[in-house]
Amino acid sequence: MDGLPGDPTPITPVIKAGWLDKNPPQGSYIYQKRWVRLDADHLRYFDSNKDAYSKRFISVACISRVAAIGDQKFEVITNNRTFAFRAESDAERKEWVRALQQAAAEQGARARLSSTYPLGVRGPELPDHAGSLELRGFKNKLYVAVAGDKVQLYKNLEEYHLGIGITFIDMSVGNVKEADRRSFDLTTPYRIFSFSAESELEKEQWLEAMQGAIAEALSTSEVAERIWAMAPNRFCADCGAAQPDWASINLCVVICKRCAGEHRGLGAGVSKVRSLKMDRKVWTETLIELFLHLGNGTGNHFWAANVPPSEALQPNSSPGARRRHLEAKYREGKYRRYHPLFGNQEELDKALCATVTTTDLAETQALLGCGAGVNCFSGDPEAPTPLALAEQAGQILQMEFLRNNRTTEVPRLESTKPLEKHYSVVLPTVSHSGFLYKTASAGKLLQDRRAREEFSRRWCVLSDGVLSYYENERAVTPNGEIRASEIVCLAVPPPDTHGFEHTFEVYTEGERLYLFGLESAELAREWVKCIAKAFIPPLAEDLLTRDFERLGRLPYKAGLSLQRAQEGWFSLTGSELRAVFPEGPCEEPLQLRKLQELSVQGDSENQVLVLVERRRTLYIQGERRLDFTGWLGAIQKAAASSGDTLSEQQLGDSDIPVIVYRCVDYITQCGLTSEGIYRKCGQTSKTQRLLESLRQDARSVRLKEGEQHVDDVSSALKRFLRDLPDGLFTRAQRLAWLDTSEIEDEEEKVSRYRELLARLPPVNRATVKALISHLYCVQCFSDTNQMNTHNLAIVFGPTLFQTDGQDYKAGRVVEDLISHYVVVFSVDEEELRKQREEITAIVKMRVAGTASGTQHAGDFICTVYLEEKKADTEQHIKIPASMTAEELTLEILDRRNVGIRERDYWTCFEVNEREEAERPLHFAEKVLPILHGLGTDSYLVVKKHQSMEAMLLYLASHVGDTKHGMMKFREDRSLLGLGLPSGGFHDRYFILNSSCLRLYKEIRSQRSWSGAPETSHRPEKEWPVRSLKVYLGVKKKLRPPTCWGFTVVHETEKHEKQQWYLCCETQMELREWFATFLFVQHDGLVWPSEPSRVSRAVPEVRLGSVSLIPLRGSENEMRRSVAAFAADPLSLLRNV
Ligand SMILES: [Zn+2]
Repeated sequence: MDGLPGDPTPITPVIKAGWLDKNPPQGSYIYQKRWVRLDADHLRYFDSNKDAYSKRFISVACISRVAAIGDQKFEVITNNRTFAFRAESDAERKEWVRALQQAAAEQGARARLSSTYPLGVRGPELPDHAGSLELRGFKNKLYVAVAGDKVQLYKNLEEYHLGIGITFIDMSVGNVKEADRRSFDLTTPYRIFSFSAESELEKEQWLEAMQGAIAEALSTSEVAERIWAMAPNRFCADCGAAQPDWASINLCVVICKRCAGEHRGLGAGVSKVRSLKMDRKVWTETLIELFLHLGNGTGNHFWAANVPPSEALQPNSSPGARRRHLEAKYREGKYRRYHPLFGNQEELDKALCATVTTTDLAETQALLGCGAGVNCFSGDPEAPTPLALAEQAGQILQMEFLRNNRTTEVPRLESTKPLEKHYSVVLPTVSHSGFLYKTASAGKLLQDRRAREEFSRRWCVLSDGVLSYYENERAVTPNGEIRASEIVCLAVPPPDTHGFEHTFEVYTEGERLYLFGLESAELAREWVKCIAKAFIPPLAEDLLTRDFERLGRLPYKAGLSLQRAQEGWFSLTGSELRAVFPEGPCEEPLQLRKLQELSVQGDSENQVLVLVERRRTLYIQGERRLDFTGWLGAIQKAAASSGDTLSEQQLGDSDIPVIVYRCVDYITQCGLTSEGIYRKCGQTSKTQRLLESLRQDARSVRLKEGEQHVDDVSSALKRFLRDLPDGLFTRAQRLAWLDTSEIEDEEEKVSRYRELLARLPPVNRATVKALISHLYCVQCFSDTNQMNTHNLAIVFGPTLFQTDGQDYKAGRVVEDLISHYVVVFSVDEEELRKQREEITAIVKMRVAGTASGTQHAGDFICTVYLEEKKADTEQHIKIPASMTAEELTLEILDRRNVGIRERDYWTCFEVNEREEAERPLHFAEKVLPILHGLGTDSYLVVKKHQSMEAMLLYLASHVGDTKHGMMKFREDRSLLGLGLPSGGFHDRYFILNSSCLRLYKEIRSQRSWSGAPETSHRPEKEWPVRSLKVYLGVKKKLRPPTCWGFTVVHETEKHEKQQWYLCCETQMELREWFATFLFVQHDGLVWPSEPSRVSRAVPEVRLGSVSLIPLRGSENEMRRSVAAFAADPLSLLRNV
């Protein structure tokens, strides 16, 4: 027995039949001769062997014991009834006892296996309909149950529970006919049963139920058997019950009858339920085929990727548990495997349009289940929808799947879970009272100024977590009240926003806004503090240590747990957003003006504010419209340049305004060798346009060579600096700077500059340093650009000091700063030495005009590309022996000033062009040995690892250290020089565990119950897993059967390389194999934990090679000479 319970054959074969004497009923001594028949489910006895309908049947499941007693007799014992029979001989008795015991044991095993029915519950099926009916010829009413394809008759309800009945009618031979009023007939070829129901209404229900039983009896299991051919389809996708004969045709899963009932309850927008046996017309060849491709295996791989054991369904789960589970599984998508593109509608739609033209149905399922629009516009008017695309590509199964999902709703976690809604933290008790001026509450934000007359004076009392307002201080009943627990936000508008000088706004969960006003700043502050204390829980009390403009709670998502939003506490002060997350660690405040991205995503119903700071991303959800809109406006305002002064600009990491950084960066890339740089003026109109867009939103401006002339950019920078309202050196201090330039004693002068520098506001100080460092580099190339220190000083003196240039004092300051920049700006001696060396060498190399060698001073220098191999994505980088792939990646990103966002899995790849394969380096891998092994066909590229998230999710939901399954396999024989025909790809079975990758030619088709395959042979091949290199991709020349292939390279001890090519059926499969490889090869550490990334310090030794300024540009010569140093010598900006 292979353990699959139940055979789908409809007629239960007889195990044993024969004449037996049945013990007489009570009060009689005469044994009755009965024809007794046993099948797997029932023991029945009949008056004669000709009868179709029994006198009695006993459910085998209810038999607890069978025992021989004296006199050739034996007893069949059920829960509370004993039946005694007498055989004609000892041998005959022995056979009956054995047959009965065996039947009972098998029935028990079956019940345990499917664990469908807890002990004491009888029968394999719950009735579809049951109740009392009169049957002509019987004095008492009978208990009748319609179950499956049978109508069972019991003497009463008690016997029904005991599993002991009179007879049952197989409805394959039945027919029902209405008779008078409450009566109806169930006719069979052998007998007519005339029933009478209690009412006509009940009669209708009985007729319907019995007709259903006939339909079920007549249904063929042909469709079911074909669909069950795939092993996972033999068990309910939701609860695991055996022989599920229902299906959801849009979800493409096979389910049991009980789950089918709950599926129907979800509505057709979630699940379209059909019977495998009855809805015969539905089951076209295409649909059956689709179920063989998707079905329960693939379906659960997606829908049930993350089911916590506590929430899993059992075949005997209660209807309530079933409903909850199925709601969570399909309506909310709670357990689904998140697609890497989840949340990115545009990308999801694009991916869907691409996938439907392939055979990858699992991917289509994953995309639709994660929100891809089934009817999205493909961009192609010829084939505007995914369905049309699939049709065009001839993908019939994709078409069928898309059609069945045309109206399927996208799963969505309910944001209004009662669990998260009720805030159960005990709030501190605060008391405060006094007069406040109050307006009527509003349902939207206050756009206009509220005049003084709109406020009414109210006596307000804050006590026991309630803010009550009264007509006056003597009033007993409040006019109204606001519970502190309902307050979601407290905002303080700037003074004089309304008719009262000082105001504050209270937002409630019920989307109301209350405006309060006061004359006195002091009193207003006091009220704000008290209300804040009343609604902020102790865990977020830190937020109260500073004044704030806005304070409240908001649902957010952050970190790796993006599936579920949590409630966090936020306060906004100036451009700083502070947050307290209940479960997270203490967070640094977000500097809104330093954000790399600030955007609002989602539709108007479900807005999400996305804040991207260097190395972290925060999503704030607009669960409540009113307070979210308020936050949105306030955060956007706080993140923008708030004025023309330096500190009001959008700032980069080192407090340098983004606008300055952008220009300096561009000149460094493209303008260092441009003659007369900074002296020549750009076109006025272009300069103005550029400056305008930089001022508006410097963060989003990307300066590109060919689009902007260096002189336009340099002029824009000069214009910006010249127009600073307070000047770079501030109005207050500029005279002191100018006077300093007149000091004769150099030493004294420099130390005075240092003093003055220290007195500048931080942003000004950082900007001065960045700018002078830049100018220092510019003058290094004065041979080419003709801009020596003096010339630069002539240009920049009047610009920075905003003078007319008549007097050279300003110029002298700039000249001094450039000449003495090392001392004035405390540039480290080691740093200085390196920079000087490097700059000198650059100049030398530039003069020599060549950059032949790639090695310098013993360091290995390597070209690494960003995102793809192109001339302008080249980065030349010095690789110290200790450098890991992660460090390399971060350095490249740093140089290009690319921010790392949450879920951007930036990784260094080794790309092998000849093999058309690539290998993401493990983050801890040392780069240098890899470089040494790189052939001429290979290079390194830093790009996002698109599958990493999917792999991490896979690993999180599985024990990752083993995987087995079929793959298409091909060996590279030509390499071995055996001269054998290279052949194609063949199915092979693979087992990957922590030590080896094993290949089996054949395995037995059956699987043992443990789920592990039974491999019949020793492995055909076996490789130690740690010495394997796994590359994604298989070269096209080999004609891989699917596009989800990978190449495994094994280097033997003799340094011979062997290559295997493996292809998976789906992308998901490929990812799982790849993830398992990574997991096994790196002891489970597949991706660095977040803290290691954040706390990454720039190693001292590489100070000179870490730069904010990317090396890019058209000046080939420059690039090559700089490349020779691997490091950017112009990195002074970095260490501000
Ligand atoms: Zn089920």
